[in-house]
Amino acid sequence: MFNRSIFTVLAAVLAFTLISCLTGDSDNRPSKEVTLSIIKPDAVENNNIGEIIARFEKNGLRISGMKMVKLNEKEAGDFYSVHKGRPFYDDLVKFMTSGPVVVMVLEGDDAIKKNRELMGATDPEKAAAGTIRKDFAKSISKNAVHGSDTPETAETEVLFFFKPEEIKNRF
Ligand code: GDP
Repeated sequence: MFNRSIFTVLAAVLAFTLISCLTGDSDNRPSKEVTLSIIKPDAVENNNIGEIIARFEKNGLRISGMKMVKLNEKEAGDFYSVHKGRPFYDDLVKFMTSGPVVVMVLEGDDAIKKNRELMGATDPEKAAAGTIRKDFAKSISKNAVHGSDTPETAETEVLFFFKPEEIKNRF
């Protein structure tokens, strides 16, 4: 009786493992992702574009699309529409339209998480040492970079700035 139970449990574990392998669910390999990065007006003005891009490239992210743009009020407002109504929204739109920005599609293993780690916390005072915001940002409102935070926002944000033919995947 006891042996039969063990056999049943083992068979179930084996079946689950097999199904997981076939469907990829037990695959611990990092997923190939794309994400949107923006070098914000403060970092562009401070001539930090190259140093910020170097952080991405040195950490395994590849640029598959890039351009410099100057956002107008509608574009900045639409991009940050999720924050509409919050106390900092108007200042955020004003800041994002204050000068040119560099928008990039970054790709690589776990690109969304990796980019966010390299960026550091939203508030540079709380950002870890060695992060982009710790090293290049002056305040929570002028914080050097933007990075998508989920696969869903990454897709929307990449398409906000780039036509598919403007992206050259390098996986
Ligand atoms: P992020 O993903 O780390 O950029 O942060 P959020 O998506 O929460 O916010 C978007 C941007 O709005 C931030 O990068 C900041 O520039 C700005 N922001 C967010 N929270 C605050 C805040 O409490 N005060 C101010 N002044 N700006 C903020």
